[in-house]
Amino acid sequence: MSKIIYPTTNFKATNTLTIERGEGAYVYDSNGNQYLEALAGLWCTSLGYNNRELVETASEQMSKLSFSHMFGGKTHQVGIDLAEKLSAMVPVENAKIFFGNSGSDANDTHIKMLRYYFNAIGKPEKFKIISRERSYHGVTIAAASLTGLPPNHTHFDLPFEALGVLRTDAPHYYRGALPGETETQFVDRITNNLEQLILKEGANTIAAFIAEPITGASGVIVPPAGYYEKVQAILNKHDILFWADEVITGFGRTGNDFGCTTMNIQKPDMMTLAKQLSSAYMPISASVIRGDMYEAMIEQSANVGVFGHGYTYSGHPVACAVALKTLEIYERDNIFGHAAEVGDYMQKRLREFADHPLVGEIRGKGMIGAIEMVANKQTGQAFNNGAVGAFAQQACQTHGMITRSVAGSSLAFCPPLIVTEAQIDEMIEKFGKALGDTL
Ligand code: PLP
Repeated sequence: MSKIIYPTTNFKATNTLTIERGEGAYVYDSNGNQYLEALAGLWCTSLGYNNRELVETASEQMSKLSFSHMFGGKTHQVGIDLAEKLSAMVPVENAKIFFGNSGSDANDTHIKMLRYYFNAIGKPEKFKIISRERSYHGVTIAAASLTGLPPNHTHFDLPFEALGVLRTDAPHYYRGALPGETETQFVDRITNNLEQLILKEGANTIAAFIAEPITGASGVIVPPAGYYEKVQAILNKHDILFWADEVITGFGRTGNDFGCTTMNIQKPDMMTLAKQLSSAYMPISASVIRGDMYEAMIEQSANVGVFGHGYTYSGHPVACAVALKTLEIYERDNIFGHAAEVGDYMQKRLREFADHPLVGEIRGKGMIGAIEMVANKQTGQAFNNGAVGAFAQQACQTHGMITRSVAGSSLAFCPPLIVTEAQIDEMIEKFGKALGDTL
């Protein structure tokens, strides 16, 4: 028994695995067993393990300047360069960037920037945020309030409504449609619910709508065609900001640069980035906002003084250097193009399980996917406890593959972006064996 309190863990669980090293798309445990990393760590190790360029970049930056903070505008070139590069990449207009350490703290930062911004433009009552059921936005007390998954609230005495969070439907047709409802009718109904919520609360009290373009931790939900077009029309009509949480979908994961591109989300006002920003070699996140929002914040700062928010490690030079090198590699080696091609192949191969008696739905886009297992294929009846996902996850591990059970009964697939089609074949073969064990 170690002294560690493990994160997101059932403390009674006995499944311990000691990972010792990684190479490319594989990790190795302390007994020398090899595992294909089919979840890229936690949806983050895009360039795989032991990438020498990233290792050397970190080492060189540590030798040159291991730390310098950014409080009061103190800066360093590698941070400036990273912000410049990111600003040019994202679909947010004239993007300005605040650096943090994790997706959760970046979402907290966004909540605070929203309040600061709306105070600055004389609309302090516009602070509520609409989030969706079955969304995942992190676990700090504020980010957990945005997250629409009960385990992230239960026993922390954290009500869904904390911080003015309103909740609307998850865009999951398979689980959310009424009997006989078409996809179009489903989209019409849930987007109408969204508009009714806005009218009931008053658009003048709602700052933003937050969404993962495609969800990750809640089961890889890909909304039906037309959903985001309708959502954006409603938000524009009521003057509510679109906040894209791209912590998982950013940087080539869904077959394009960002999930917004894949899902036809035009010009989000805010974006949260983390994970693949540095291929997980260093913790770093970015809270991105529109340039004119920052302009208003500058004026507010002139009135009230300091913008009182910042982490010791905001803009950590080693994390910035590694992130900058990661973005350079993405571009130079056409990693997004490769991921799009292999992602199409992965989606095709995952769908070969469609007729399996345990498989209810196969979802995904690009190099993110999930297979939901059901007790009754005809009716879609779910297993009445979440054990099937955990069982399948363990069976995969036994066959030399690491993946993750999400939303109880689904297994997620999100390998490093550098995987080959042969490694996708290996993933499919191992999953097939694990499904055989699960049946
Ligand atoms: N937002 C999304 C969409 C995520 O998937 C995650 C983590 O998986 C987070 C935020 C939180 O990021 P972190 O675990 O780095 O705090």
